[in-house]
Amino acid sequence: MLVLIANLGSTSFKYRLFRMDATGDEMLAKGGFERVTDYSAVIEETLQTLVQNGIISSPEEIDAVGFKTVLGKNINGCVMADDACVAALEGFADVAPAHNPPYANGIRQFAKSLPSAKLVALFETAFYQWVPEERQTYALPQEWRNIGIRRYGFHGASHKFVAERSAELLGRNDVAASTAALYQNGPSTIAGKPLRIVSCHLGGSSSVTGIYNGVAIGTSMGFSPQSGLPQNNRVGELDSGAIPYAMRTLGLTLEEVEVHLTKKSGLLGLSGVSNDIRDIHEAVLTGNQNAALAINHLVDSIRHWTGAFAWQMGGIDAIVFTAGIGENHHVLRRAVCAGLEEMGLILDPEKNVACRATEAVISTDESRVKVFVIPAYEELVLAREVYRKISHLS
Ligand code: ADP
Repeated sequence: MLVLIANLGSTSFKYRLFRMDATGDEMLAKGGFERVTDYSAVIEETLQTLVQNGIISSPEEIDAVGFKTVLGKNINGCVMADDACVAALEGFADVAPAHNPPYANGIRQFAKSLPSAKLVALFETAFYQWVPEERQTYALPQEWRNIGIRRYGFHGASHKFVAERSAELLGRNDVAASTAALYQNGPSTIAGKPLRIVSCHLGGSSSVTGIYNGVAIGTSMGFSPQSGLPQNNRVGELDSGAIPYAMRTLGLTLEEVEVHLTKKSGLLGLSGVSNDIRDIHEAVLTGNQNAALAINHLVDSIRHWTGAFAWQMGGIDAIVFTAGIGENHHVLRRAVCAGLEEMGLILDPEKNVACRATEAVISTDESRVKVFVIPAYEELVLAREVYRKISHLS
């Protein structure tokens, strides 16, 4: 089965083509476009390129297209990307303005450009279906909760990949297999010692997730992708009381508040330098105090959530770093892991510095809590889920 994974941004389009079958998976091609204004044109160009390069002989050979949708109103899991799915994305366009409109448009366009393919959406919220209810809720009046305001969680595909891969690395193939089949079968009972992982997805947007026996038990992100950890230019956690106070005191409109919190906050807002941690780190080295504050705030927030999940899971067996910052920034990894020797976590400083964007164990051999770097591979999770969904249908 040929599965095309489409990654849609407000001005970008990236794709990967996978061949999937019962024995495994293989990536056949990848590519992308920046500054996209017309999805139909780039979809057409992608299909032509795949034919010209001899990867496929005609677009009809593509069996399915997978979309990593963020969140939709009253919808979750791995679903057919049909009119109901598009309507659910549009129903929450306000909550994820950078993500939902491009996916709604892209899905509509694929339905026209590639009518023979089955379209499948895997929601980023799917991994959190089994988080305990008390941890999914906010203490709000019923009418707020009735319109879908609750903690959802994001980066589900990335954290699910970490859950599967870290279980394999720890020799727990029972847990890895159960996580792989999670959206089909739900959580299964795991015999023996529990496996407790904290997964840190640290990139342009970031979240920390607690994973018990391969199932997410909580995450730092909440109702929208601007909660939890400070993001590159989004605020992360904020006391709701700050919004009316800032509106009254600074005379801001609601639209201005949205721009401040979604575009001018996070690492950019705090550092005043950049939304890219590489630039911020350079500024720290020249003595910039605001840049240091931004990185310290990020580290503190990661430690805060890691500690919360370690407590809620009754301990921790491994902490995993993934995504652009997690895979590359050894200084930040060292700061997150500092001073935890009494809790059984001993980072190996040399392995930590040597590891850049490759899979590695960066704790010492004696460390009871393992520290892993696992490069993110969300597209593979998506291709596997699309394959399972379509195989299940036929
Ligand atoms: P996204 O969350 O947008 O998918 P990524 O996971 O690719 O993005 O992460 C992007 C972030 O990773 C950027 O903020 C960038 O600073 C950081 N990053 C990328 N490469 C490096 C590197 N070599 N060293 C430190 N940080 C890096």
